[in-house]
Amino acid sequence: MKISFKNTYSGQIEEFLPVKQGEVGMYTCGPTVYNYAHIGNFRTYIFEDLLRRFLISAGFSVTQVMNITDIEDKIIRDSVAQGKSLQEFTEFYTRGFFEDMKFLNIESAEHYPRATAHVREMIEMIEILKSKGFTYEKDGSTYFRISDFKDYGKLSKIDLAGVKTGLRYDTDEYEKDDVRDFVLWKAWKEGEPFWDSPFGKGRPGWHIECSAMSKKYLGETFDIHSGGVDNIFPHHENEIAQSEAASGRKFVRYWLHSEHLIVDNKKMSKSLGNFYTLRDLTDKGFQPLGVRYLLLSAHYRSKLNFTLEGLENAEKTVKRIGEFKQRLMDFHPVEGTSSLDFTRFREGFQNAMADDLNISLALSHFHEFMRTLNDAMNCSSLSNDSRNAALTELQLFDNVLGILKTDKFSIPENILELASKRWQAKTTRNFPEADRLRSEILSLGYRVDDSKEGYKVLPI
Ligand code: AMP
Ligand code: ZN
Repeated sequence: MKISFKNTYSGQIEEFLPVKQGEVGMYTCGPTVYNYAHIGNFRTYIFEDLLRRFLISAGFSVTQVMNITDIEDKIIRDSVAQGKSLQEFTEFYTRGFFEDMKFLNIESAEHYPRATAHVREMIEMIEILKSKGFTYEKDGSTYFRISDFKDYGKLSKIDLAGVKTGLRYDTDEYEKDDVRDFVLWKAWKEGEPFWDSPFGKGRPGWHIECSAMSKKYLGETFDIHSGGVDNIFPHHENEIAQSEAASGRKFVRYWLHSEHLIVDNKKMSKSLGNFYTLRDLTDKGFQPLGVRYLLLSAHYRSKLNFTLEGLENAEKTVKRIGEFKQRLMDFHPVEGTSSLDFTRFREGFQNAMADDLNISLALSHFHEFMRTLNDAMNCSSLSNDSRNAALTELQLFDNVLGILKTDKFSIPENILELASKRWQAKTTRNFPEADRLRSEILSLGYRVDDSKEGYKVLPI
């Protein structure tokens, strides 16, 4: 099957050919944990989950990394306002994030690195950039000089004419018409957390985080990097500049960006106050899987207008799909009825997904599959073999869509192995090792709870 995606970098639909045959390395920018994520954010995470699940269903083994930004301007501002330590504050929202991800049936990434646990790697990368002459210092902060990186602007297609060199930005976010040198290392300010570094006491900027962590977990060149369209500039443009200037190699082969969830023609965002969190919607009685279906049912490169009415319809569809599954399971096949071949529906579905995730066409094959089987059940012309094959097909569809309820949450093998090693370390009183393993498990999105009887592994 030929797979193609629209690559933001080239602006073209390109055939997807990963660096290593059969394997995909994928970096997805994660949440800044200063509040609950809203469903606009989850539109992007669900698009990435769909991409991941599709690639797995197409036979790839996927290594996905999603960073947790736990040091940043807004985090410092709000943790101070609430009188909480940075760690206490960010752990609370990190936990909330993983809870929402689980309710939305978003599969766990292989790595969830936290920024504060990777400051050393960030410092190392800034040192490389410094030694290659891409940085300068001003008032204790270190900046990246964008005019030294010849490919600056290629992702976002910004016009660099008229950009004055030497103008700088200390904040992590800024607009496209305000292109400036960006900060790699911010000088310490009274009352802020800090790390010691060869560039002085301070903390890393936001962009260096993703460059340093993607390098650590995926290498200097990897296959897919994604996020919402608002990440293209400045965040991803700056990531390319840092990573390619440091390594001298191509950073990312395919850039995929999802369009926004909007409300009355405006991006859903915290700053506009026009947002819903998943909790807001479940408090109103909506089901998370209805939210999931709504968010995945529009093509990722089209804007999606959010309405409660749209959500009600999505929820009805999810309910109908669940009832269809139940009907199929309860159906009593009649002897001697003819068998049906419906593998073509899933082939149609997979081919549509392979064409830059054409979800509307893919879903139309899925609904056609259900219609055909409902018709067969209506006139009792479904054999036992066909019924069983249909249940298998349904599961294969759902491996990609993830909209049917699963009975149990299965913990991946590698997590169980780490938990068992941690238990061994603990029972042999090797507490530092046990603590290290606990943090590693936590960074992968799980936790261990100990009791007298032993231990339990749970999603965070
Ligand atoms: P942030 O926490 O603002 O960095 O956003 C986390 C992710 O959500 C990023 O990939 C953003 O591009 C994405 N995002 C933010 N707002 C929206 C929205 N309204 N619709 C879709 N994606 C969004
Ligand atoms: Zn990022």
